[in-house]
Amino acid sequence: MKFIETRGNDGIHPTKVTFSEAILNPIASFGGIYVPEELPTLGEAFLSKHLNSSYKVLAKDLLNSFEIDVDEAIIDEALALYDHFDDSSNPVPVVKVKDDLYVSELYHGPTRAFKDMALQPFGVVLSGVAAQRDEKYLILAATSGDTGPAALETFKNRKGVQVACMYPDGGTSDVQRLQMVTEDAPNLKVIGIKGDFDDAQNALKSLLGSTTFKAKLKEKGISLSAANSVNFGRIIFQTIYHIHSYLELVRQDAIKMGEKVYLNVPSGNFGNALGGYYAQKMCLPVEKIIIASNENNVLTKLINSGKYDLRDSSVVSTTSPAMDILKSSNIERILYDLFGSKRTKELMNDLDSNNCYELNSNELTALQEMFSADFCNGDEGKKYIKDAFTNNYLMDPHTATCFKAYETCATKNIVTIAYSTAEWTKFSPTIANALTGEVDAEDITALESISKEANVAIPSMIKALFNKKITQDTIIEKENIEEEILKFI
Ligand SMILES: *Cc1c(COP(=O)(O)O)cnc(C)c1O
Repeated sequence: MKFIETRGNDGIHPTKVTFSEAILNPIASFGGIYVPEELPTLGEAFLSKHLNSSYKVLAKDLLNSFEIDVDEAIIDEALALYDHFDDSSNPVPVVKVKDDLYVSELYHGPTRAFKDMALQPFGVVLSGVAAQRDEKYLILAATSGDTGPAALETFKNRKGVQVACMYPDGGTSDVQRLQMVTEDAPNLKVIGIKGDFDDAQNALKSLLGSTTFKAKLKEKGISLSAANSVNFGRIIFQTIYHIHSYLELVRQDAIKMGEKVYLNVPSGNFGNALGGYYAQKMCLPVEKIIIASNENNVLTKLINSGKYDLRDSSVVSTTSPAMDILKSSNIERILYDLFGSKRTKELMNDLDSNNCYELNSNELTALQEMFSADFCNGDEGKKYIKDAFTNNYLMDPHTATCFKAYETCATKNIVTIAYSTAEWTKFSPTIANALTGEVDAEDITALESISKEANVAIPSMIKALFNKKITQDTIIEKENIEEEILKFI
């Protein structure tokens, strides 16, 4: 399968690229991104075939159907990393919370957030492909808190790749920060920037597009790539668990094969939801994809009004910081899929120059056929955390946003799969506050009180963080990012 560009071709970039080219060089003409030329059509036969497959068998067959140019040995090595999740036979447990509400837990990997689902195998695939081509790569990652740890974890000590990871100083939880600043492999650099996630992501995009930066890297024999979900190499792995979760519901007798479900996704950069959208296009019976946001509710407004308007907005800090984003990169792939490259370029140009775009009414109708959306503020989130806990389910503040959207958007008598994107351990002060009322606790205190209250153990890799040495202490102004990265390489 070949990959094409969301904003059309500029006559300089190749018009079509292979999967490996798309992941090694993820930014396309006019600042666009790569999308599959066409998706595999799998249909219900694929679901039936995999009703009793393990996660890895399902994953491999799905990847094969994309006909990507990556050797089988690399794919096998990549998928083997799911063996290190909490339950090696099932990396993604799906748990019943109510008769019509199931939670698909995407956080059972090494860094306790859903980013591991894609970044674990992606690390092997990208470094494997780079090694085969005998090329060296600098991987940039901008993080709101979970991509960073997951990218550092998957790339550490891998040959031929260096990682520069930028996070907003003060914008992450303590556990997230410790996961990054205690990484000490020589091929990793962690940079705190004085700014928010959008500043980090803008810096990343501008470096990816900068010919002078790339020329400086080339002098050292290094090429540039990115670990954010602008990279299709992540999206492909994020289609699998949507299909797996559906099959789990069939196996658990919650639904019959072929029955429609709601997919309910806590969203920021929209990679997770995009995976669900592609899964639906390939084979999954989906009534709607319900997008849950926090107070940074641009996606809710887009889906409800057709307007993507950043003119009077700035990112606000919330209790679900992984979704503190205003420029949601993967919406562009939806625009492309629904409206084509010409219109996508027009809309994205509007956003770049006027901080705003607006869909016409036909376009809005098309968007709403597939998506509905709501947002949840911090106080509501805490109420949902507390209520769920009373019903014996412990969840994090990102997952909580889904519980609100489930109440307001899942209007038909249809089962909802809500995606839990982080373990309670990553955002413990908010959860402790919701459960016990304690305020301003340090992460370590909050972890202990939740552990006691809920009678669950703190996972060893989280506990260990508090005794590790801080090896990455760079904090800089955003203007100095390029210089800092050049120093590192
Ligand atoms: C990254 C992340 C999200 C948002 O996912 P997108 O794919 O960027 O929409 C939600 N919750 C958590 C905990 C995350 O780490």
